Amino acid sequence: MALKKDSNSLGSEQEKSHNEDSSLLEFKNLDNKKEIESQLLEVSKGDDNENGFLDFGFNQSILTSLKNKGYKNPTPIQKAAIPQLMLGRDLLGQAQTGTGKTAAFALPIIEKLTDNKELNAKVLVMTPTRELATQVAESFKSYSSESANFKTVAIYGGTDYRNQISALKRKVDVVVGTPGRIMDHIRQGTFKIKDINCLVLDEADEMLNMGFLEDIEWIIDQLPENKQMVLFSATMPSEIKNIAKKYLNDPAEILIKSVKKETQLISQKFLYVQRHHKLDALKRILELNNEGVIIFVRTKLLTTSIAESLENSGHTVAVLNGDIPQNQRENTVDRLKKGFINILVATDVAARGLDVERIKLVVNYDFPFDKETYTHRIGRTGRAGRSGEAILFVNQREKHFLRNLENSTRTKIEEINIPSNKIINEKRMEKLIDNVNESSLAKDENEENKALIIDVLDNLKEKYSMDDSNIAMAAINLVIGNKSFFVNDDDSWINKQNNTDRNRSNRNSNSNNRIRNSNRRNNYQNDSFETYKFNFGKFDGVRVANIISSICNSTNINGRSIGKIQIFNDYSLVDLPRDLHRETKNKLKKIKVRN
Ligand code: AMP
Repeated sequence: MALKKDSNSLGSEQEKSHNEDSSLLEFKNLDNKKEIESQLLEVSKGDDNENGFLDFGFNQSILTSLKNKGYKNPTPIQKAAIPQLMLGRDLLGQAQTGTGKTAAFALPIIEKLTDNKELNAKVLVMTPTRELATQVAESFKSYSSESANFKTVAIYGGTDYRNQISALKRKVDVVVGTPGRIMDHIRQGTFKIKDINCLVLDEADEMLNMGFLEDIEWIIDQLPENKQMVLFSATMPSEIKNIAKKYLNDPAEILIKSVKKETQLISQKFLYVQRHHKLDALKRILELNNEGVIIFVRTKLLTTSIAESLENSGHTVAVLNGDIPQNQRENTVDRLKKGFINILVATDVAARGLDVERIKLVVNYDFPFDKETYTHRIGRTGRAGRSGEAILFVNQREKHFLRNLENSTRTKIEEINIPSNKIINEKRMEKLIDNVNESSLAKDENEENKALIIDVLDNLKEKYSMDDSNIAMAAINLVIGNKSFFVNDDDSWINKQNNTDRNRSNRNSNSNNRIRNSNRRNNYQNDSFETYKFNFGKFDGVRVANIISSICNSTNINGRSIGKIQIFNDYSLVDLPRDLHRETKNKLKKIKVRN
């Protein structure tokens, strides 16, 4: 069944009941020329209505898969967007990940295509990264798990074409992909687009940030003219509004004012630490909080070396970086969700879109390259209404970046100290006492163990004439083990660190450290860039987006950390982070653009 635009039916019962349903909805001007329906919502947990999805009129297979996933009520964005999309309206949505936006567009699409028997794809979803493409495709698959013939295919760069081509040859309903790979498949004729009647642009601002504007426009131009358009973006810069004006037809506009609230649940902190003390500082932080932690670092190499070191200190750790195959990444995330591992050391590219509720702490071990990366990183905690903590490591050189970050995120990031031996030892003591206390409670619950313990106690008293306090001491000694319980490493460097590096007055008065504008975007670490020359240029048909996607797919460099790009006739100049690892530089030497 085709997704058809039917803006005449806006006064239908379904929509009326939806609009009346919430006092949180109101109308707003998108621009001065034209009034566009808008729905302003406060994020709330929804009511306790057990059948929150019934009102949308979804078929039974969708309702069953939602039940299997444990969804009881639609999130605000789902309440607002689903009725509009079911009516075939275009939609402009401002919402971050974590708001349930994927289901908001996926469910109406699945509903409308449940009985689709045609071979060619009907819907195209475009995402900025392969991680998000996989995640969105996985969401489609799980929401359609009970709809027997529904097929979703993900196509993204950095992987072999063959599997994607053979999947596209079979029946497919929805294709989810990244712009570069979508273009390749369209050009090669391996992705048949003549029946596409719905296009979703997910995280559109991200795609623009990565330089995909031309590619997106090229793709839109190839698609059939009569199609439903859905555009989701976390922010609404003028470029996004322009795209909306150019391509969307009388869209319903939905704003979710949840961003602030969500980041408010995250307590943001920083500490001063010199480069050579970072690992020690990290281990000290993990003494206080080590269950459900993500550590963000800049290079793949660092992910593995830090993970090894933490493992040697007794933590359960895994690594997520661009070298790790997709299926293994999924497995790692699954193990993190289930608590088999507690700590994840990741690069930015690999952790994109990661959604694990039990993450309590995000450590920014390496300073993020820009505000968006920072916001994205810390958003890995504080999921699903839980609170979380984010700690940023800052060195002398990075002080003014910290100030810029505070300004651009309009957040005060609170300073904390690296935990001293005293703090750590107090924490260890507290934990030991809690553990002993908890096991005394647990003991009551298991009759068999209780009998065993009483037996052991009787034996100890009879055979060795031990009294209660002797026995208790021996038992605690057993728990402590042979290793020294308290930390007594030299921690004098911590005070020095705090005193010399803090220099808050400097931090507060340094008004000269302004963000220098890069031509492409606001990197507040421009002075840590280096210009690389590549021997391809305009004559090779190369464009900015091609360069970004090649660099991102061939190395661990995050698209956001790429600075200015200048393309000349037969060469290009690209600003890249100054401290790239040798291995990354070697990979850069070999990169190919557009083959
Ligand atoms: P998204 O914003 O699409 O990335 O979704 C964020 C998280 O919310 C994902 O883990 C979804 O599985 C979950 N989610 C989406 N909709 C609902 C819902 N109605 N009830 C419970 N969880 C949901």
